[in-house]
Amino acid sequence: MKDAMIPLSFPPGQPRGWQRQMAEAFCTPEALLAFLDLPPERAAGCAQQAFRLKVPRYYAGLMTPGDPNDPLLRQVLPLADECRQAPGFVTDPTGDQSASRGAGVLHKYRGRALVVTTGACAVHCRYCFRRHFPYGETGARGDWQAVIDTLAAEPGLSEVILSGGDPLVLEDTRLAELLTALARLPGIRRLRIHTRTPVVLPDRLDDGLTRLLTDCPLPLVVVLHANHPREITEELADRLRPLRRAGITLLNQAVLLVGVNDDADTLAELSERLHDCGVLPYYLHQLDRVAGAAHFEVSDQRARALHQALTARLPGYLVPRLVQEIPGAPSKQAL
Ligand SMILES: *Cc1c(COP(=O)(O)O)cnc(C)c1O
Ligand code: SF4
Repeated sequence: MKDAMIPLSFPPGQPRGWQRQMAEAFCTPEALLAFLDLPPERAAGCAQQAFRLKVPRYYAGLMTPGDPNDPLLRQVLPLADECRQAPGFVTDPTGDQSASRGAGVLHKYRGRALVVTTGACAVHCRYCFRRHFPYGETGARGDWQAVIDTLAAEPGLSEVILSGGDPLVLEDTRLAELLTALARLPGIRRLRIHTRTPVVLPDRLDDGLTRLLTDCPLPLVVVLHANHPREITEELADRLRPLRRAGITLLNQAVLLVGVNDDADTLAELSERLHDCGVLPYYLHQLDRVAGAAHFEVSDQRARALHQALTARLPGYLVPRLVQEIPGAPSKQAL
């Protein structure tokens, strides 16, 4: 190990391997709050125990020091609000368990199956609808052959979605194995990747992964997850450009969150910034009612009003579809 001495901080902008950046991510509220010049009392131990903090330093660097209400900080900081029970907020709000076909495969919607490739992510989002997901039992656990066999037994699939967790925390070789095997499945016309990693760690889209994605034998759709315009940086734009040039479809899904993006100006600017780097807004999700996230919920009435405000000020292609997930429904439902 020639890198035994890893410095705990480094000059911003200095390139680092993505795996090193993952290893150097903040994993305690105290360390993140100290970095932001904020008092440690902002964080709640009960919430940290239930779902520990994880924040790459790059992403922390986008937050405003000294601002306890920073919209990026709010997405990742464990708060006491999470420990309060709220009626209707449950561990499996989206009915994932009943859609499980084994080996990490969820088949809910016609023609599309989703693979929970890993339980790991580059960041831990407090509102995550899979924060209680039983990855040990229902995830793929790295057995790609079991994934392929399970998908092959599902009738009528034309698209496979790699999700998680976050598929882009897998190593390139593991991803390459999976993409290659999926591309050989009869009937599959396109592959899709759902990922937040490039938003919190743009360096993940290094030359190796970029080549892997641009060489994918099937048409590829990458759906990013950014919630706030400040998450769309020059670094991210630079990393996305080669994907765009290679003809990969780039979309974004956001979650509507109190104190993060629940105003029309923020949502409009998010759409504008996404378009600046070749990404179209796809979905704006009404929060899935997962236990611990009640304080993020925007009322349906307000969600509709925000969506109308967006529709009134943006071209149609920059207005994401406002949807919610209803367990058992044949698709995501317009709100
Ligand atoms: C959201 C979701 C999809 C994708 O739905 P689209 O409307 O095609 O984006 C597919 N499978 C599962 C299990 C999902 O939760
Ligand atoms: S990156 Fe996605 S799957 Fe991972 S914690 Fe955030 S919302 Fe959940």
